[in-house]
Amino acid sequence: MAWAFKALKLTKKTRLLLAIALPAVITVGGRALGYKFGGNVVVRCRQGHLFTMLWVPGVKLRSLDLGIARFQRCPVGRHWSLVVPVRDRDLTAEQRQEAQAHRVFFA
Ligand SMILES: [Zn+2]
Repeated sequence: MAWAFKALKLTKKTRLLLAIALPAVITVGGRALGYKFGGNVVVRCRQGHLFTMLWVPGVKLRSLDLGIARFQRCPVGRHWSLVVPVRDRDLTAEQRQEAQAHRVFFA
C-alpha cells in the first residue's frame, strides 16, 4: 500500500490516517456487502477450490494483499493462486462445509 500513498503524494499525516482508516473502511464496507471481513472468510481460488481463512484487511503474513483479492497458496489444490472472498449467501450448505474442511490460519 505504501507505493500507492507515495504515488498520490500524500502528506505523512494523511498517509498514517489512511493506513489506519482504510482497513477499517474495507472491513465495515465488506461486511455491509455480505463478506465476513475481519474474521474467517470463505475464499475461492482461480481453479474454483473453496477454503476458509482468517481475512483481516491489511493484515497478512504469507500472502500478497491486493485489497479485495490475495495471492496465496491454495491448501486444496496445493498451488499458488489469486483468491477472492465469497459472499456467505452465495454458498450452498455443501460448499460451506467443504470450505470449513480446509482452513488456513495464517494468510
Ligand atoms: Zn485451488
